[in-house]
Amino acid sequence: MAPWTNWAGTETAEPERVVAPHDVREIVEEIERARTRGRTVKMMGTGHSFTGISAPVDTMVRPDHLAGIVAVDRDAMTVTVRAGTPLHVLNEQLTVLGLSLHNMGDIAEQTLAGATSTGTHGTGGRVASLSAQIEGFTIISGQGEEITVSRAGASDLFAVGRVGLGALGILTELTVKVEPLFALEAHEQPMTWDTALAAYDELTSDHDHVDLYWFPHTEHALAKVYDRRTDLDGIRPLGRWKHWLDDELLSNTLFGLITTLGTRAPGAVPVLNGLSGRALSERRFSDIAHRVFTATRRVRFKEMEYAVPREVGLEALREVRRVIDASTWRIGFPVEVRTTPADDIALSTASGRESMYLAFHVPTGADHTDYFTGVEDVLRHFEGRPHWGKMHTRTAGELSALYPRFGEFLAVRDALDPDRVFTNPYLRSVLGD
Ligand SMILES: Cc1cc2nc3c(=O)[nH]c(=O)nc-3n(C[C@H](O)[C@H](O)[C@H](O)COP(=O)(O)OP(=O)(O)OC[C@H]3O[C@@H](n4cnc5c(N)ncnc54)[C@H](O)[C@@H]3O)c2cc1C
Repeated sequence: MAPWTNWAGTETAEPERVVAPHDVREIVEEIERARTRGRTVKMMGTGHSFTGISAPVDTMVRPDHLAGIVAVDRDAMTVTVRAGTPLHVLNEQLTVLGLSLHNMGDIAEQTLAGATSTGTHGTGGRVASLSAQIEGFTIISGQGEEITVSRAGASDLFAVGRVGLGALGILTELTVKVEPLFALEAHEQPMTWDTALAAYDELTSDHDHVDLYWFPHTEHALAKVYDRRTDLDGIRPLGRWKHWLDDELLSNTLFGLITTLGTRAPGAVPVLNGLSGRALSERRFSDIAHRVFTATRRVRFKEMEYAVPREVGLEALREVRRVIDASTWRIGFPVEVRTTPADDIALSTASGRESMYLAFHVPTGADHTDYFTGVEDVLRHFEGRPHWGKMHTRTAGELSALYPRFGEFLAVRDALDPDRVFTNPYLRSVLGD
């Protein structure tokens, strides 16, 4: 059987069985087959998690035939979508319908269920993660039972299952909130570290979405600020040439070359970061929201991201910088800073607290260990919660202390998957069995 590998190449697996079911009946058959043999089933997204959360052990279930919009409710402003629908496909279909998701992360390759199962988030003080946009879902449990829950039903499963880590069952359909198609007015501004940190609170309160990047070993930062607009007639998308120059040549091809150079000659990284930082220029454009939120990422990397309470976020960032400055590490990727409001999902990284997300990257060829564990030590002191889909070293003992509702999640898991049909080594490590 062809070995499986995730997007970053950090996880590989050789599942003994690979299937691509078309409907609920075929999914139930696979679950029954595995359960009666004491085997496991892993429902796949697109493998864009950096952790082993999506690594299959025995049966690997592919989402290929589980895509598409099932229903549109314009009164409730929701759409019901098959769980394996890739986000970029969903975005295009919603655009044709004159609709839009409320918020997005920075790529659209993931499936809807894969993205929401790890709590995938974007940025902005007013709109929470994709998981928080879920109004209901249908899931097949470890005993092959099909269960549908909704916000109105207020069940334990709805309370925890919107960030289910793939541990509770196989999602077949999700109902998510949408809004009329809108656009974003983008303003990207190079700044110094000092200006960016001094302006950060005002930027996040004055604007809908703020994505801040700091280039380690330099004073360079870049603030990407997006504001919502509903009049689509006057939008000014980037021209094809400018789009190719900025997003393809500079952000992918040239950045890829710089990254390779930095991996081969780490001593050159501060100079290269300085050049990258100086090469940034101010730009303004506007476009349909998902085209602004997301970009193509051709340079492969490894990533760790932590959510810390919003009120200590800037202090945590300053402390991270202090540790980087004092180290011998050579970090060629910018540190990314985002914010989200609190949500009410048990294992969401923003559960019960407004959050600031700090993300750290290294090229796939580089050793991440010292950098990631060094930063992790800092963020531990700020009660940081690691993104479930991004690299970290935390295990159930520590994680349970970070999530007041951890036990609630485990109780639902025990009820839905007592035989642990959906487990894998990552889930055993973060959930404790
Ligand atoms: C380049 C890149 C950019 C990224 N940007 C962001 C970002 O901006 N914000 C952010 O928060 N994250 C981001 N991520 C992380 C990514 O969004 C998450 O790791 C996401 O979970 C990946 O989705 P996937 O479809 O690939 O799912 P996978 O990684 O394949 O699976 C993730 C989990 O979902 C489960 N799952 C999948 N389908 C189902 C189903 N039908 N039923 C039940 N469980 C299911 C799997 O079993 C697994 O447990 C990024 C990752 C990459 C590689």
